Amino acid sequence: MHVLIVGGAGYIGSHMVRCLGKAGIEVTTLDDLSSGRRDAVTHGEFVEGNLGDRALLDALFGERNFDGVMHFAAHIEVGESVVDPAKYYRNNVVNTQVLLDAMRDHGVLQFVFSSTAAIFGEPVRDRIDESHPKAPINPYGRSKLMVEEILGDYDAAYGLRSACLRYFNAAGADPAGGIGECHDPETHLVPLVLRAASGRRESISVFGSDYDTPDGTCVRDYIHVNDLCDAHLLALRSLWDGGGSAAYNLGNGSGFSVREVIDTAAGVTGRDIAVVEAERRAGDPGTLVADSTLAQAELGWRPQYADLATIVEHAWRWEQALASAER
Ligand code: UDP
Repeated sequence: MHVLIVGGAGYIGSHMVRCLGKAGIEVTTLDDLSSGRRDAVTHGEFVEGNLGDRALLDALFGERNFDGVMHFAAHIEVGESVVDPAKYYRNNVVNTQVLLDAMRDHGVLQFVFSSTAAIFGEPVRDRIDESHPKAPINPYGRSKLMVEEILGDYDAAYGLRSACLRYFNAAGADPAGGIGECHDPETHLVPLVLRAASGRRESISVFGSDYDTPDGTCVRDYIHVNDLCDAHLLALRSLWDGGGSAAYNLGNGSGFSVREVIDTAAGVTGRDIAVVEAERRAGDPGTLVADSTLAQAELGWRPQYADLATIVEHAWRWEQALASAER
């Protein structure tokens, strides 16, 4: 089997490349390196380019026999999507459609899509399952929901089957080392807390302490990046086995507050972490926790690293590698 991984040089994509490589599946990465890193691609072939480049896609699909495509090449910053929605709709929707049309024209009809909890918007229930209303509150979430809707229509009309995987809070790193989370600018809580622990930044800001949560800070469902990758492989295998299009919410099903994450990081690292109370960040719901019962039942998915301290520990190993590379 041969899989095209679009965005394989990014955080989750690079873990996926390794996961498939270890499973003995041939991989080709397509990435324009706008935010990914070439050295994060540890297996298979690497092609530098953008998913919206139809001529490049025609050459790629024409010269290889792909058995499926996984797509990780999206812009992911909520705040940026509000000030520059054009950037989000162009890449996350328009360019994705270019990719889907190339797949269709070349007869590659299995697709695994990186979706997000942001498609649900403000939660109306404690735990979010697949039947939760979909009402995204920012262009980022809307761009992902639009693609989910396009995928439904492409299946009905063209037989292009897909799995939409809605991540809650991806975190951690492959414990084998060498790859991890590395956004620029970094906006995510776990890597920022660990930078504060390693001394690569002064402190961590807590965005809002007046939410309707046990300690007033936002509650999120942190899921290990390798567990997400396992779900992708299971979802692709299900499509290969003839399964129909599906969508799954992926999390551990337990929520941790920002303060709990900081306390866990202090425990794992043994370092003091300076905390600064800050204003709420626009667009942050108080609580986002997944109900992943469906993925467990239909895919047989079982997260291996459900414990928050383990997730943070693996992220800490990666942060220490980055910090020592900087010295
Ligand atoms: N957060 C924070 N300080 C930071 C970064 C994030 O308090 O420097 C909070 C953020 O408000 C949210 C949680 O941490 O409640 C997780 O944020 P992140 O950006 O990691 O993921 P998101 O939930 O936005 O996908």
